[in-house]
Amino acid sequence: MTSPVWHPFTQHGLNEPIPLVERSEGAALYTADGRRIVDAVSSWWVTTHGHRHPRIVAAIQEQAAKLDQIIFAGWTHEPAETLARGLTEIMPPALEHVFFSDSGSTSVEVALKMALGYWLNRGEPRHRILTLEHGYHGDTIGGMSVGARGVYNQAYNPLLFDVGTLPFPAGDGRNTLDALEAACRDKPAALIVEPLVLGAGGMLFYEARVLAQMRAICAAHDVLFIADEVMTGWGRTGTLLACEQAGVVPDILCLSKGLTGGVIPLAVTMATAPIFEAHLSADKAKMFFHSSSYTANPIACAAAVANLAIWREEPVMERIATLAARQRERIFALEGVRNARALGTIAACEIGGGEGYLAGIGPALAAHFRTRDLLVRPMGNTVYVMPPYCIDEDDLDRIYAAIQEAARIFG
Ligand code: PLP
Repeated sequence: MTSPVWHPFTQHGLNEPIPLVERSEGAALYTADGRRIVDAVSSWWVTTHGHRHPRIVAAIQEQAAKLDQIIFAGWTHEPAETLARGLTEIMPPALEHVFFSDSGSTSVEVALKMALGYWLNRGEPRHRILTLEHGYHGDTIGGMSVGARGVYNQAYNPLLFDVGTLPFPAGDGRNTLDALEAACRDKPAALIVEPLVLGAGGMLFYEARVLAQMRAICAAHDVLFIADEVMTGWGRTGTLLACEQAGVVPDILCLSKGLTGGVIPLAVTMATAPIFEAHLSADKAKMFFHSSSYTANPIACAAAVANLAIWREEPVMERIATLAARQRERIFALEGVRNARALGTIAACEIGGGEGYLAGIGPALAAHFRTRDLLVRPMGNTVYVMPPYCIDEDDLDRIYAAIQEAARIFG
């Protein structure tokens, strides 16, 4: 019997096998037919400490037995309060306010709406958003509007709003910085960027000093700076936030994925006092008009509180440093690949010719890894490794042996 399930980013017409996963532990997934799969992509970049970290599992169980869900408009609960306080302690001090939502995409929608609300409430409406070429910020209409346009959003393109797209920072980033300076003259509302790494755009890295200069130009022109750290946050690039490496503090920060250690959906958009205060008034029309039914779900917040405790009490940064060194060693030892690169726990390279998501050898590459019991999800001919921080050397060796083999077959 065929399944009624319609999977995301999956072409069902190709009839590729869809493994049934039953259990997870650490860096591994176990299928119903008894296979052990190494999770080389942290299950879409979310799993940081490893699957089913016992402290997060316990926090979820405890919270589910106490308070499951409560409307968050005008009501509150301990896990949300503790989490928001904890986040303001660990994130840059200027980000004093925490708005909850449910996914990376919604954290971006919230960021964009906050930026527009800020300008309207100050009596100076602005609507234009600046973005980086090849960016990705989610699959909602707003997220797609500020992301790269391509085959994956061609059906919706006419509905996406117009943005100012800056060229991807090549080398010293002069191309991007000059374009930003010019675009700022038209008084845009905000610039949104993925700091240091453009993830879904192909694991494209750019330099920290370009990020710092983009931030400085925005500050000089009074343009809000939104850092989308949905992928780069929680240690992925070797520091808690990628922005840290550039000494950058954004006006608005989007976090999700690793916020709960990757166990349960939750997102936050953090904002500075001026953004919050622009919405502060006796006038109801100035409040921030955004919510979803599950905003700040207590069970998800409890999982994130446990995640913060893990960051405080376990040697997470040491694990990240160890993994980063192991990744570098392996990605640069590969033969017959192009553009080997690594930053923190992320490593990537290109295999074979052709560019883009649907081009070239993508599906054959994906099958190559699947048949070797590895969860590696190439983006076109870009292969990347972004595993949970607990992955051991044997599992890493398995992943890299398969990449090396792929380079020989497809390179
Ligand atoms: N922003 C960035 C930088 C992302 O990488 C992603 C997802 O990969 C998103 C936003 C969207 O997050 P979600 O898939 O949780 O909606």
